[in-house]
Amino acid sequence: MDVTIIGAGVAGCSLGHLLDEAGYDVTIVEKDAIGGLLREIEFDSGYHCDSAPHLLFYDEEEEAIVGELFSQFTDLDAHEFYAATYPRGGLEDPHHYPVSKQNIDRWDDADQIREELAEAPGKTDAEFFEEYMLNQVGPTLYERYNKHYTEKHWGIDPARITGDWFDFKISFPEEEQEFFGDGAYYPTDKYTEILSGMVSGCEVVFDGVTDLNTDGDTIASVRTESGEELTSDLFVSTIDPSILVDTEEELNYRSMVILGAHLEASERLFPEHVDWGYFPNHYEFTRITDYEFTPQSIPGGEYILTVEFPCFVGDDVWSRSEEWFESYLLDFLDEQGIEAETIDAKIRRAPHAYPLPVNEEIEKFERINGKLSSYENVFNLGRVSTYEYIWIKDIVQQAYETLEEITTTTDVRATD
Ligand SMILES: Cc1cc2nc3c(=O)[nH]c(=O)nc-3n(C[C@H](O)[C@H](O)[C@H](O)COP(=O)(O)OP(=O)(O)OC[C@H]3O[C@@H](n4cnc5c(N)ncnc54)[C@H](O)[C@@H]3O)c2cc1C
Repeated sequence: MDVTIIGAGVAGCSLGHLLDEAGYDVTIVEKDAIGGLLREIEFDSGYHCDSAPHLLFYDEEEEAIVGELFSQFTDLDAHEFYAATYPRGGLEDPHHYPVSKQNIDRWDDADQIREELAEAPGKTDAEFFEEYMLNQVGPTLYERYNKHYTEKHWGIDPARITGDWFDFKISFPEEEQEFFGDGAYYPTDKYTEILSGMVSGCEVVFDGVTDLNTDGDTIASVRTESGEELTSDLFVSTIDPSILVDTEEELNYRSMVILGAHLEASERLFPEHVDWGYFPNHYEFTRITDYEFTPQSIPGGEYILTVEFPCFVGDDVWSRSEEWFESYLLDFLDEQGIEAETIDAKIRRAPHAYPLPVNEEIEKFERINGKLSSYENVFNLGRVSTYEYIWIKDIVQQAYETLEEITTTTDVRATD
């Protein structure tokens, strides 16, 4: 039985691998290159980095499945990752991230902040991000650490941001805490090599899918940019569903331009144990990561960084040149008193980085996706296609669930 999967990100590749192993004939259609959001930035100097740090976060007890799958293709090293936040912008003033109660002492108005905390209801259920944060930390800490960062990251008013991820992503510990206490891992091999290994038994066609050719309740084939028609028994989408169905509506995603830079610099940006920093201030980027944690031996005095600039496709930030991003970073470092020179710098534009956690957009997604799922031979999974703010571990979980759904529907195991 044939299955055509659209998109070779972690969603398409992990499901492709599972279906191939289960005896299906799998074709993956990818318009760009294997890896999707997990594709590395490659420097001319021979080094590389993720397009923004990609760590495997999972709880060994409950979510081991992602580790089991990835371990078939790479070794995974356990890491303790630490982050800092720089609410006043200066690298000489790192605060804990997750924001801790100890951070309060760094402010002149610490007494006022403590009073607000005493009055705040604490961790409560709330539909919207702003309400959730205000309840937990009070107005002053919210303003300094969360509000502006959230506006910059999402490009939307935090009072409209909704979701079931608040609890998972946000904590307010007493003191400095590692970024993900339940377990964080990083592969010894590159993500693109791991994903390429997963799909070694599948046929990969490099072409962009443009639309569907349907026959009543079923999809007969997908059409591609080069004019091909790919027929199949089953189809799996890991891409924006509005590309596939007949609709006037467009789905909005928060996009990102990621600058990767290999630098020579007079000093490290962060304290020795800190891997990345958040910038809830006027800088146009949200986060800088130092890739010292990756299994590459980076010479002393050299640093590999990514700098994340959130934006919407077509806006000012999205449209800027590679040179602009490089000089923005160098100007920032200069302002911070760090002398730096670029060995190589490259940008990666990610149009579908984040589904927007806003009710109107989620409802729009449901209308569009409803049209796609009305066909009986299609499945979908992944962050872009399900419009959910999910991580690699969740996507791998979805891949196993989709495998189960497909095998139950088609019972191919018995015949192959
Ligand atoms: C800045 C950032 C940091 C992150 N950090 C982490 C982290 O630390 N840990 C973690 O677990 N998760 C992290 N994530 C989330 C993780 O990267 C994503 O959830 C995951 O990579 C999404 O995989 P996917 O396969 O669903 O989508 P994608 O990776 O986007 O794959 C979709 C693929 O479809 C292809 N495609 C699109 N349109 C077409 C078309 N018309 N025809 C054919 N192919 C098409 C694309 O080229 C792409 O290759 C991060 C995300 C971002 C943006």
